[in-house]
Amino acid sequence: MKKAGREQKKKRALAISERLADAYPEVKVPLYHRNPFELLVATILSAQCTDEMVNRVTPELFRRFATPEALAAASPKEIEKIIRRLGLFRAKARSLKRCAMQLVKEHHGEVPATMAELTRLAGVGRKTANVILGYAFGVPGVVVDTHAKRLSQRLGLTRHKDPSKIERDLMTLLLPEQWTPFSHRLILHGRRVCHARKPKCQICVLNDLCPSAK
Ligand code: SF4
Repeated sequence: MKKAGREQKKKRALAISERLADAYPEVKVPLYHRNPFELLVATILSAQCTDEMVNRVTPELFRRFATPEALAAASPKEIEKIIRRLGLFRAKARSLKRCAMQLVKEHHGEVPATMAELTRLAGVGRKTANVILGYAFGVPGVVVDTHAKRLSQRLGLTRHKDPSKIERDLMTLLLPEQWTPFSHRLILHGRRVCHARKPKCQICVLNDLCPSAK
C-alpha cells in the first residue's frame, strides 16, 4: 500500500515535470555571468534580493574584480561601494572576500565542483551550491528556494518545511536529469503563477494535478 502510494506520487511528479517543461521550455539561470566564478558571486549576492537587482551591480563588480585573486585582494569597503544597492550588502561583501580568499588558498583560484567543497565556502549553502553544480558544471541538483519550497508543499510532493528535507524528497521522486530543470521551472512557476498570497489557480497548467488547487 505504502509502495503503491509512492509510485502514484512519482507518476504525479513526472506529470508535473512534463507539464512545466511545456510551459517553460528554456532552462537558463537569469543571473548575468560568464564563468563559474561569476555565477558563484552572483548567486551569493542574490540572497534575499531579486535577480534584476543583482544583474544591475555585477557587470561593474566583475569589471573591477574579474578573478578570485582580484576579489580576495579587495577591501570589503571597495566591494561594499559597488554592491550597496543590495540588501545585506555589508555581510555579502565580507562573504565575497572570504569566499574568494578560500578559492585562492584552497582551490588554486578555481570554483570546486562538489557539494562538500562548495558548502565549505563562505556564503554558500546547499541552495547556492546546487545552482553552481547544475548550471556551471552540469551536475544534477535540486535548488530549493522560497518558491520551490512553497510549490513542493502545495503540490503535495513533500510534507517537510526544512529545505534540505524537501530537496531529498524531490530527489527521490524524480530522475537525476530532471533535478535541475524541475526546480528551475518550479521557481519560475512560483514567481509567475503560484504566488505566495494569491495563487492564480484558474490559469495554472498544474490545476488538475494539484491537491491545493482552488
Ligand atoms: S493549482 Fe494553484 S496552488 Fe496548485 S500549483 Fe497551481 S497555482 Fe499553485
